[in-house]
Amino acid sequence: MRQSQLFTKTRREAPADEVSKNAQLLIRAGYVHKEMAGVYDYLPLGHRTLQKIIQIIREEMNAIGGQELFLTALQDPAAWQKSGRWDDAVLDVWFKTKIKNDTEIGLATTHEEALTNLLRDQIKSYKDLPFSTYQFQTKFRNELRAKSGIMRGREFIMKDLYSFSKDKQEHDAFYAIAAEAYKKIFARLGLGNQTYFTYASGGSFSKYSHEFQTVCDAGEDIIYVDEAKGVAINEEVYNDPEVFSTSGLSKETLVQAKATEVGNIFTLGEKFSQALELTYMDAEGKPQYVFMGSYGIGPGRVMGTIVELLSDEKGIVWPEAVAPFTYHLVSLAGTDEAVVAYAEALYTDMTKAGKEVLFDDRDLRAGEKFADSDLMGMPYRIVIGKNTVATGEIELVHRATGVVEKVTREALLAQ
Ligand code: ATP
Ligand code: MG
Repeated sequence: MRQSQLFTKTRREAPADEVSKNAQLLIRAGYVHKEMAGVYDYLPLGHRTLQKIIQIIREEMNAIGGQELFLTALQDPAAWQKSGRWDDAVLDVWFKTKIKNDTEIGLATTHEEALTNLLRDQIKSYKDLPFSTYQFQTKFRNELRAKSGIMRGREFIMKDLYSFSKDKQEHDAFYAIAAEAYKKIFARLGLGNQTYFTYASGGSFSKYSHEFQTVCDAGEDIIYVDEAKGVAINEEVYNDPEVFSTSGLSKETLVQAKATEVGNIFTLGEKFSQALELTYMDAEGKPQYVFMGSYGIGPGRVMGTIVELLSDEKGIVWPEAVAPFTYHLVSLAGTDEAVVAYAEALYTDMTKAGKEVLFDDRDLRAGEKFADSDLMGMPYRIVIGKNTVATGEIELVHRATGVVEKVTREALLAQ
């Protein structure tokens, strides 16, 4: 990608009403645009990063057998009335609207009801179970607070996976596999060291649910962390003595921290299968309720969390796995023919070699280019100037550490 063609521009200031660090940096660097409080557009660079996060999650969900689908955002109240969650007093984040004949419909806050409902046509016998299915889909929630930038949107993408098992035992086995997949995901996303498997309130069936909480000042939750074990307890269940015997943690080794819930896994049990009559015939020909679980991750919240944790005073610092481009190729010396030719050829060859390169081919002062490059946060900056042409030595700057390496063209292409 040539930066001269990229329609997004960097800016010195974020909008005055934007209070969160992640959104301030992402707006300034041209990754997102703020439509209104809690509502953000993903521009080309932001879209690339979001898609990389999504792809990592997708690979790990496929690896545990998840089948990808895509459900509708528009929701039929009938299914939600059966579970009791159509009522605003029960679910207080609904956006509801009407279709032409004055019938009310909802914008999906989550998809347990719709999916359970449609699976009545698919699940017949014990032979149809177990399985899991997931999607990356837009959720709408009328969140009370929307001051955390892309970490808490009123419209946001969620990865939601749902598991369908014959009984609790079968469910528990999958639940453990899903928890391991989540650990892999957060490690691949560069958040492994700060992310804790956290005991939280359970809701309907099990005593506890489990959250994946990333320690982060911008987080809205309080957790108690056992660093050595990589396990934590959410403050919402901290005063329950049973959580200590269940988790094997003890108060003496726990440290309080602010954190953000990047993912969670829930045992739903028969809550939705009973409400929506999702049953299967067991081996004796008797109807049984399907045993369910749900497993969420917010890719946008993950992206915001990465920015919060890894940025510095100059701008964003992307881990390689999610950077929109791996390399930021910056050509200096304005229109100097030899420098332009060298940079152009390197850009072409790197791109041919399958590398992801953002090429700053603009005729701007070096200081401006470096400031933009720092703000945008690609992992490696390649600097091409008169000296490069003279010596054949290419400057490779690591964004995270500031380490400057001198490399040859061949080494760079082979990297
Ligand atoms: P929170 O307590 O932070 O509101 P939640 O319990 O409502 O989260 P779920 O409904 O289980 O979260 O959603 C699954 C995942 O989706 C969360 O773990 C989080 O990563 C993400 N998520 C939830 N709400 C938002 C939001 N408003 N904006 C962006 N991501 C979100
Ligand atoms: Mg919520």
